[in-house]
Amino acid sequence: MKNYAGSRMSVVVPCFNEEEAIPVYYRAMCRVMKDMPEVEFELLFVDDGSSDSTLELLKKMNEEDKRCQYLSFSRNFGKEAALYAGLKSASGDYVATMDVDMQDPPGLLPEMYRILLEEDYDSVATRRSTRTGEPRLRSFLSESFYKFINKISKTEIVNGARDYRLMKRRMVDAVLGMSEYNRFSKGIFEWVGFRTKWLEFQNVGRCAGETKWSVKKLFFYSLEGITGFSVAPLSLAAVVGVIFCILSFFMILVIIVRTVVWGDPVSGWPSLACIIFMVSGIQLFCMGIVGQYLSKTYLETKHRPIFILKESSTGKEGEKRKGAVYEKTSA
Ligand code: UDP
Ligand code: MG
Repeated sequence: MKNYAGSRMSVVVPCFNEEEAIPVYYRAMCRVMKDMPEVEFELLFVDDGSSDSTLELLKKMNEEDKRCQYLSFSRNFGKEAALYAGLKSASGDYVATMDVDMQDPPGLLPEMYRILLEEDYDSVATRRSTRTGEPRLRSFLSESFYKFINKISKTEIVNGARDYRLMKRRMVDAVLGMSEYNRFSKGIFEWVGFRTKWLEFQNVGRCAGETKWSVKKLFFYSLEGITGFSVAPLSLAAVVGVIFCILSFFMILVIIVRTVVWGDPVSGWPSLACIIFMVSGIQLFCMGIVGQYLSKTYLETKHRPIFILKESSTGKEGEKRKGAVYEKTSA
């Protein structure tokens, strides 16, 4: 293998109430870092407004091991915001993003790094080949979501894709260039393009703690994906509207003809009531779709920051760190 000594790698790790998982993760990463002596590491933990002792733990790790850096949010802004903040302060030539709960095996990192060095790729992403250990309903809903979004969006969202990937600097800069407020990373990583190699691994359970994603939270996250990467539902509303207009036109014709030929018996009000219910339901549904997009546009136009830093070990927010290139600093 060629001598690539001197590469810098930042690993972005979002943490939300992860006091139990962090030590396990850190130990695993120490082993990985030992196996990659040619790389200068920076572990960027992003404390997403945890209410347990996550931040204290991160501070202690920072004191003991300068490779561990942390950012801490003023409240819980969500994993997407944590990923963005981490990518923004990452200074490495290579940047990885991974979960702290060991569901993204740190042991894959050397292989991912090797691929970027030796093959012509800009990023190595991972997907899980199985969903073992996940509740049935959840798997079913996830599968349906991927099928649906890939039908209506031009950006391919890979089924089972994890937010575990390693990227070269130019791809990271492209991702940072997308400073939208409503973030859906799985779509953003695809949207920016570049050559990505996919690695598969078997699903592993959490090492400690509990998942932070309820079905409700996942549902709203999937709406983020749909409205962020497809405008097809807006056209759907229009298509349904047109179909119903045409249908009602024919129905009116039928009623007129019937009245002229057979007179006008006062019957059929229950069916009329049903039709009114159905049509107004469809109207509300369509308005809801428009409302979804409108609300996203509303939030986007406010230009609110994606996250607010409370404190960090890496200097002030937005400050240019050695080696880091920012195209935009909207947050
Ligand atoms: N996470 C976060 N903010 C949140 C929720 C989750 O930073 O509001 C982090 C969490 O600490 C973990 C990663 O995102 O490192 C994935 O979360 P989790 O394991 O709960 O999700 P799952 O693997 O069940 O999809
Ligand atoms: Mg997890």
